[in-house]
Formats: sequence, structure tokens, C-alpha cells
Amino acid sequence: MTSALSPAHRASSVSRMAAETFDVLVVGGGVTGTGAAVDAATRGLSVALIEARDYAAGASSKSSKLIHGGLRYLEMLDFGLVREALRERRLLLTRLAPHLVKPVPFLWPLTRRVRERPYVGAGLLLYDTMGGRRAVPRARHFSRDAALKLAPALRPDALVGGVQFYDAQEDDARMVACLARTAAAHGAAMATRVEMTSLVTQCGRVAGATARDLLAGTDIEITARHVVQATGAWTGADSVAPAGQPAGAADPHALRVRPSKGVHIVVPRERIAMDTGLLARTEKSVLFVIPWGRHWVIGDTDTEWPFDPGLPAASRADIDYLLAKVNGLLREPLTADDIEGVFAGLRPLVAAGAAKDTTKLSREHSIRSPSPGLSVIAGGKYTTYRVMARDLVDAAARDLSSLGQRPGGPVQASRTEHVPLAGAAGYDQMWASRASIAEQTGLAVAQVERLLGRYGADVALLTEAMAARPELAAPLPGSGGYLAAEVAFACTHEGAVGLDDVLTRRTRITIETRDRGAAAAPHAAALMAGVLGWDEARTAAEVARYLERIAAELEAETMPDDLSAYRVLARTSEHGRASGLSAERRPRSRSM
Ligand SMILES: Cc1cc2nc3c(=O)[nH]c(=O)nc-3n(C[C@H](O)[C@H](O)[C@H](O)COP(=O)(O)OP(=O)(O)OC[C@H]3O[C@@H](n4cnc5c(N)ncnc54)[C@H](O)[C@@H]3O)c2cc1C
Repeated sequence: MTSALSPAHRASSVSRMAAETFDVLVVGGGVTGTGAAVDAATRGLSVALIEARDYAAGASSKSSKLIHGGLRYLEMLDFGLVREALRERRLLLTRLAPHLVKPVPFLWPLTRRVRERPYVGAGLLLYDTMGGRRAVPRARHFSRDAALKLAPALRPDALVGGVQFYDAQEDDARMVACLARTAAAHGAAMATRVEMTSLVTQCGRVAGATARDLLAGTDIEITARHVVQATGAWTGADSVAPAGQPAGAADPHALRVRPSKGVHIVVPRERIAMDTGLLARTEKSVLFVIPWGRHWVIGDTDTEWPFDPGLPAASRADIDYLLAKVNGLLREPLTADDIEGVFAGLRPLVAAGAAKDTTKLSREHSIRSPSPGLSVIAGGKYTTYRVMARDLVDAAARDLSSLGQRPGGPVQASRTEHVPLAGAAGYDQMWASRASIAEQTGLAVAQVERLLGRYGADVALLTEAMAARPELAAPLPGSGGYLAAEVAFACTHEGAVGLDDVLTRRTRITIETRDRGAAAAPHAAALMAGVLGWDEARTAAEVARYLERIAAELEAETMPDDLSAYRVLARTSEHGRASGLSAERRPRSRSM
């Protein structure tokens, strides 16, 4: 079995989807859905996964990228969630994804002289001990002078001292791509640009789904003994209903998601002189300043989003809020001109009463089985994706055993605690020999280190490709340091089928370059054309569509509020439709 999510793998997956009966059909290719595909496939179940857009195109590429227990939840006395998340953090750091997940330090500036240090110190001591065996360094206390030495960018009057603690971070979209590859390596049929359009019912059970292959423009009926739906912010009262029933009719108690928008901005590393990340309290939540390669990611916001979940838009109000919060701490304030990138995502929080502010909604996950043959999940957080996936597949397994007809006997318990993600096995040895890899390939050691942090042991596949085609070792023009080989690998191994997949998620060029990837776009498209067989017209349309999207996002960021920002993105998406761009190249409107 191969972990290469190549165009050939997609084609054979779509053929399998039309022909086989699967134990489990997963709908949604975010971290929860791809995690569920890994969980189910490694239990020996036959699995298909469909994703309407791209892997991680929803919240799973727009998070703060922290694998964390969540100090905020500790303060909310949600000890169970924190303990579970810290356990997952350790597993990811040490066993499942040591190539992708790394420890990251945060300074917590103290602002009150008397009671704050013991309060914060006690909380961090608990945080350090709750996760069991240590995987990150302990918290350390600093005087004001020592804290300012660590973070000279801070205004001296912004703190009276500080405590530094450790959490972990990852590239969220890359981790989902690795999960998708891991599921494929265990036999799952995986396809993006395939959108579920309705559930299929037979004798009172959900027995599969109809779906539209957005690349081919054809419909497929996928037969499955159980469907699991992990559609994030798209899950709701108006979700896809069994064929012939109105949307939302399947279950009056269906999971309702209350999407909460979170916005981050990205600024150059040299604009904030600090040797640590930063976490500071805000009135309602917290502000993070997170080291991100040659940049800082600053976030985030937490506000209700009542519009299309496919078009979360950052407005000027969001950006002004973040600048005001961070500038309250900095000697040299940031301005809008410092911003290199902006991203907005929707937390798929489970609705719990109308009155609550989204910042107060629980980050626990909920699973419902509104009909035999169907389980739906919502809520949760990235860090605990493995637990969510396990619980979701457990729900499917209970239903499958009640069916009593599955070939292969009872479903095994989850094994994902022991299943390293693609690129994890052999990573430590390759890290130890990074200097000799650099010598053999002619790449700089820092470049090899960067590649190892993105691909783990699969760097060997990239260096093989570079040996066969030396032009792939060249930097991609306008990309800020990515290699041409990474674009090719995204198409041959990571399921990228559109320019946006490569510039926004397999690489992070869209948020890391001041022109939002405009200069890199034609170069990346030309490389992709070679691998994916695009003709000139298709290549030009991909570039035009990408440039149109980033122009719309930039315009939305000048709008005063959510509604006007959303209208800009919606107008562009309508324009995409009117100009006859094929479905897979334009954002889709709310469908579930
Ligand atoms: C701003 C922000 C910051 C966050 N920070 C953190 C953090 O630092 N740490 C942390 O642990 N968590 C964090 N989270 C939470 C975390 O990102 C989410 O909980 C998680 O990514 C949700 O993943 P998901 O797979 O459930 O949903 P999504 O990633 O949204 O995936 C759902 C997928 O379903 C697909 N889909 C929808 N309808 C259909 C259909 N009909 N057919 C096929 N596919 C369909 C969508 O295209 C989408 O790709 C953050 C979230 C946000 C928004």
C-alpha cells in the first residue's frame, strides 16, 4: 500500500468508491476526518474519505497551530480537557509526530505585584505535572529585568515580572496532509474535491452517500456500512439529510455548531525583538505571539460568524483589534504596513444555549448518532484530534457490531496511540545525519533541518526527486525559501490538485510573503502543470483565480466589519461562478 496521494491514487480511490462497499465512509478531510480515517483503517476496517475542498481547507489550516493543554481551560477548571490534551501533546512530541510537533516557549508577563505570581506559578506547576511524563522543559520565573532581557521588545511598564512556560506547535495543514497519507498507507481510499451531496438510506439505515466529483463533474454513489461526518463548521441543523428528506430533518436533536471566527496576523520576526513566544491576557481571552520560522503569528479573535462557513473573512476591525492588543505591550508599535499575512478560520464549537459568548463555549467534542449507520462529530480542538477520531470510530464500531454482518468479525480497539504518522519512523536517525545529508545533496544544513521539520524521514523522497531532476533543488522564486521540489512533492505525494492547495496549505507562502504569494504563483503553477498535466489555459486560470482570491482577501481586510468583509469574498466567489470557472476552482457556498 502506498502513502503517495498522487493523481493516480485519487483516480483509483474514486473508482473504488464507486465499486466497493466500505465499512466506514468519512466525510470531511480536516484533522478530525483524516484522524478518523487513520483510526478506522488501522483497526482493519475498509475506509473511504471524501473532502469537498482540500485536506485542511477548513479550520484545520487556520488554527493558532498550538498543540497545547490550554491554560485558559485550566483557569475555567476544565481539568479533564487539559489533562487529556497534555497527554496527547506528549504522545505527538515523542511518538506520533516528532518531526512535525516541537516545543515552544511562552513568556507570560505578570502585571500585578502581589497575588499574580503565586496564582500563575501554581497554575503552571499544575500544567507542568498534569500531562504525566515530561516532554517539554519546566516553567521558569523571571524578574522584570530578566524578562525584559528575554523580550527586549516589551515596554518596561507592561510587566512587573514574568513566567516562561512551554507548550508545543506544529504546522496544522501539514499535519493533516501527513494524516491523510498515513490513512492511505493503511489502505484507505482518499479523495479531495469530492463533496457529499446527500446520505443514502436503506431499510431505515444510512447506507452510504451520494457525492459529486468536482474535478470530473460526475456523481458517485458510495456504499458504506457506516458514515461518519466530520464536517466542522459545516455541520448544523441544515446539514445534509438522507435523500428525499429536507435538510436537518434526519434528527431534530442533531448537533448544532456555532461557528466562532478566529483571526491571526503574521509579521516579520525582526519587527519584535524577543527570544520567546508571548501569552498575555485580554479582557475575554488571551493573546498569543507565536514564533513561526522567520515570522511571528499573532492571534487571535473569537467572535460569532453567522455567514457562509466556506468564506470566513478577516475585517479591518479584527486586524485593528489584534494590533491594539499587541501594541499595548510593545515599545515599537506595529502598523498595518508590517503585516505580511492574515488568516481567518472558524472554530466548530457545539452550540449550548443562545446567551453564551463564543469565548465561553466548551472546547469538548460531542458525537451524535442521529440514525443507524451515521455518526456526527463536532467541537473539540486540534490537539485532541486522536481522541476525537477514536471516539468517533468507537461509535461507528458499536453500530457495526449491532449489524452483525461485517466480514472480519468484531472491530478492534483503537491502535492510533502506537501508529506514527507518515515521516515519523526514521526521523531521529535522519536528524542525526543532517550534516551528511546536506553534504550529499549540496543543500545548506539549515535547509535540510527545515525540510526534516516538514517531511521527517520522507525527506529521502524529496532528495531522490532532486537527484533525478536537479532543477527541483532550486528555490521557488518569490516563495521566501521553499524549494521547487516541495511543490512537486505536494502534487505527487500530498494530494494537492489546485494552486491554492500548494501556496496556502502544503506550503504557507500565502501568509508568509508580503505579496501573499502573487510572485510565486506562476512559478508554482508551471511546476504543478508538469506533474498534473495542466494545459496552458488551465495553468493560467489557476493563477488568475489565485490572484483574484488574494485581491479579494486584501480588500476584505480594509472593510470595517464582518458583513462588509464577507460581501467582498462572496462577490468574488459569485464572480468565479459567473465567469464559468469549474466548480473545483471556486469557493463553494454553504452546503451542509
Ligand atoms: C482561529 C482558530 C485557532 C485555533 N487554535 C487552536 C490551537 O492552537 N490548538 C488547538 O488544539 N485547536 C485550535 N483550534 C481548533 C481546531 O483548529 C479545530 O477544532 C479543528 O481544526 C477542527 O477540525 P475539523 O476536522 O473538525 O474541522 P475542519 O478542519 O473545518 O474540517 C471540516 C472539513 O469538512 C469538509 N466538508 C464540509 N462539508 C463537506 C461535504 N459535504 N462533503 C465533503 N467534505 C465536506 C470541509 O471542506 C472541511 O475541510 C483553533 C481553531 C480556530 C478557528
